[in-house]
Amino acid sequence: MKGISKAAHAGLSPLIPAVLAPPEVMTQAPPGFIPPPLNPSGARLETKELAPGVYGLLSSKLPVDNSGFVVGEHGVLVIDAHINGAMAGLIQTAVRQVTNKPILYVVNTNYHGDHTFGNYAFPQETLIVAQQKTAEIMRDFEREKQLLLPTVGNDPTVFGDVRLRLPDLVLDEYLELDLGGRVVELHHFGHGNTPGDTVVFVPEARVAWTGNLILGEGTIPFLIEGGAGAYLETMAKFTHTLEVGTIVPGHGLLTSGAILGRYLPYLSELIESVRKAIRAGQNLDEAIAATPLGQQYTEDIAGSDPPLVAQFAAFRAGIHRWNVWRTYQGMKGDPTSIQHLARGLSLASV
Ligand SMILES: [Zn+2]
Repeated sequence: MKGISKAAHAGLSPLIPAVLAPPEVMTQAPPGFIPPPLNPSGARLETKELAPGVYGLLSSKLPVDNSGFVVGEHGVLVIDAHINGAMAGLIQTAVRQVTNKPILYVVNTNYHGDHTFGNYAFPQETLIVAQQKTAEIMRDFEREKQLLLPTVGNDPTVFGDVRLRLPDLVLDEYLELDLGGRVVELHHFGHGNTPGDTVVFVPEARVAWTGNLILGEGTIPFLIEGGAGAYLETMAKFTHTLEVGTIVPGHGLLTSGAILGRYLPYLSELIESVRKAIRAGQNLDEAIAATPLGQQYTEDIAGSDPPLVAQFAAFRAGIHRWNVWRTYQGMKGDPTSIQHLARGLSLASV
């Protein structure tokens, strides 16, 4: 089990990286942004066998969290713990319909409460696994509850029962877990939707769980914490490292590795457009107007029912405005990055 280090909770740094969005950021978002509706009430998790021993748990209510599990000879690994004890219970019921083997691991793909608040409802013997930064940021439980509130219709009872349960095992860039006859790889490629995004990959099945790093079919990246350049680098590393067939996203419809063909150009076009707007002296509104969401990102999924498609299109348009806003802010707020870009440009023109 290379790459493992035991999390010494007391020893973890209390620092929250400056890149994190403060809770009030949701209310400062540009007009048109719709917080993702994550209230799980009424949601079912449908079990879908993707390969022998490899199961997606797909939410019946979009975009409430998906999850999943992998079964080996010795036991089970669950991907994401969901938002509360009730949903974590549905995950365990789904596992029990397939196997009686113990749940050895629960992997949190990021620190958000909708992926981690269910941790406490798994057995004590189950090891919670997360990337180092995810483990650190999870300690700010009250901040996370505040951030999550608008996504559950401001109903605090959704996670009223939740107790904070921190990871037992942390990884930096890579960790391999052998379930007995079936190996699961955990990859952290860098900052994406959050600083500690983790991809769970079953190589023999070429199935990946991507958390919020890659969302479902028809989506664009969501730069909730900004950092377009870092996100692009992360996506490039992902592309170089893994040859993925099926992707079970943290939210949305099942997709495939082909979605990298949207995410990579989206990010580089976003960076280029916002950089041009700033260099032309445009304000934020002008930058948003000058950076429309390209038509290649708005083609919708065939066969989906029209009201859902319309809702999804509005949601995606809001995410794009958010992305332009955060990228603009990031480039404006950090003079060194502008100088860096200017230096890059003059080198490129030599
Ligand atoms: Zn999420």
